[in-house]
Amino acid sequence: MITLTMLGTSALLPIPGRALASAFLECGGYGILFDCGEGTQSAARAAGVSLMRTELLALTHYHGDHIFGIPGLLQTMQSMNRNRPLIVTGPAGLELQMRPILQLAGSLPFDVRLMPMPEAGRFLSEILDGAKLTSFPTEHRVSSQGYCFELERKGKFQPEKATMLGIPRFFWGQLQKGKNIIYDGQMYYSTQVMGEKRRGLRVVFSGDTTCCESLTEAAKGADLLILEGTYGDNTDTQLARERGHMTFAMAAETARAAGVRRLWLTHFSQRLEDPESYLPFASSIFPDTVCSTDGMQITLSFESDSENA
Ligand SMILES: [Zn+2]
Ligand SMILES: [Zn+2]
Repeated sequence: MITLTMLGTSALLPIPGRALASAFLECGGYGILFDCGEGTQSAARAAGVSLMRTELLALTHYHGDHIFGIPGLLQTMQSMNRNRPLIVTGPAGLELQMRPILQLAGSLPFDVRLMPMPEAGRFLSEILDGAKLTSFPTEHRVSSQGYCFELERKGKFQPEKATMLGIPRFFWGQLQKGKNIIYDGQMYYSTQVMGEKRRGLRVVFSGDTTCCESLTEAAKGADLLILEGTYGDNTDTQLARERGHMTFAMAAETARAAGVRRLWLTHFSQRLEDPESYLPFASSIFPDTVCSTDGMQITLSFESDSENA
């Protein structure tokens, strides 16, 4: 199960009701915070989300509207007596960009570990069984990357196979958890009694970017794709390309090409007083599009086996 909450959905300037870029993903008791723009903390509080569960902060790039919330968050973590490390990952330049932020936050009673990808992804897989975090390059005006979070789903346990192999019920639970066992001097592998892997869950968060192949490729088959929609109207297509951003239609085209289940737009320019009024530019291309709002939340669960067919 994955719960994703949008925290900040504005671009460049925070406005009442819309903080700057941020989203929080929770899975198995662990949290990943994607970007941390100004206002992230109050948006999280309003949404009833505890950022203290953040294990990993994944930055898409280092523009101020995506990172200026970090020093404040670190100070809050300090005041809440956090003592376990916080992992921070991001594109090229991570150390250089984080240095002044860490200086601002002052001395902290916990480690802030700067860990580029794919190392940070490996760290997450170690603590959260079946989870996989990968990054992919995006096209913005500066070094940038998006993230793909996947939750694998094991195959179904096949009791008839375990019975046929003569494995006592006592060991079935361990085999279901993917462990191999030794019984009566013989090794039995989990794979001997588990069916084929089933469809898992996939959430893709892009950050600021214009359309690009690596994004479409990474988004393939996503249950939820979160893309920026800095501009609403198609008349801004050229401007969006030049500035490394997207219009609603460009985002919708990416979602359609990638065959995703749903698209959430975010990172709206102040010029879009009412982002919703521009929605038809996207929904005419990809119907399952919504304009996200701060606090919007979705919980994704594994589908039933009949849907999985
Ligand atoms: Zn931005
Ligand atoms: Zn940017």
